[in-house]
Amino acid sequence: MSAGHDRRSRPYAVIYLPPLPRELTENGLCSVPGLWPDGLWDFSVPNETPGERRERRELAVRVCQECPVQKLCARYAAENRQCGIWGGRVFAPLASSDSEDTDSPGREGGGVRAPCRGAKSA
Ligand code: SF4
Repeated sequence: MSAGHDRRSRPYAVIYLPPLPRELTENGLCSVPGLWPDGLWDFSVPNETPGERRERRELAVRVCQECPVQKLCARYAAENRQCGIWGGRVFAPLASSDSEDTDSPGREGGGVRAPCRGAKSA
């Protein structure tokens, strides 16, 4: 699946993340290979402008809102402290101070700021 997407280099820590539930990898709309731009569900993408980020997140959230596993996806992300766009919600790193993050699509109605430990980039 595309969710999970970007792994930036950072100091390594050994953590255990439960595997993505099979329902997400099999039925998530983001898991369709080659259909979406790279990094669509990432928290951030290198060199994107704030406007591009907002546009990208809006598209990702809209896709999530049509996804048959949206609720499961958001629950998995919350329980496993993921960052990025999951289940139509923007999961922002706790340390993020970018005001764009607090105004992101998906933040109203349940955006989350959490000590992320995996997957989408911060
Ligand atoms: S809700 Fe969004 S991130 Fe989650 S599986 Fe569906 S399309 Fe992917």
